[in-house]
Amino acid sequence: MKSADTRAFWERRSLDGLSPEEWESLCDGCGLCCLQKLEDETDGTVWYTDIACKLLNTTTCRCSDYPGRRSHVADCVSLEPGTVGTLGWLPRTCAYRLLDEGKSLRNWHHLVCGDPDAVHRAGISRAGRMVSEETVTLADWEDRIIFRSRG
Ligand code: SF4
Ligand code: SF4
Repeated sequence: MKSADTRAFWERRSLDGLSPEEWESLCDGCGLCCLQKLEDETDGTVWYTDIACKLLNTTTCRCSDYPGRRSHVADCVSLEPGTVGTLGWLPRTCAYRLLDEGKSLRNWHHLVCGDPDAVHRAGISRAGRMVSEETVTLADWEDRIIFRSRG
């Protein structure tokens, strides 16, 4: 007799086989993808700043109007199963990137540990350590670089 597959849904199925609810639940809430970035036009290097999109709550790392975000931020990027692998700037800790690369979710991921705040305690998110784009000028951006995207 075949035994039941007890693995979690993200381990049993590929990203393109998940339901919309499962897909959304994978987001670890780090908010890193909502930080403003600078791109070197000569070699494509992407640099993250600690400047948050104007809709990002800088304490909780959540979008303040996720359903209506496009009417405020036209270039907000939608992650989809077919495009995750093409977005080299996604942080290496991003759950979608990890799974797309065949890796496991980290121990601090809320689906693994059950605690949505663990991502903050582990120092993965920038909760409380970023500024809203509405409080800085474009001239400040280069001074606020925090890390280079792995690409
Ligand atoms: S980087 Fe990935 S896991 Fe983190 S908030 Fe963005 S989509 Fe979610
Ligand atoms: S609109 Fe919302 S989801 Fe999009 S980058 Fe800004 S904070 Fe993030």
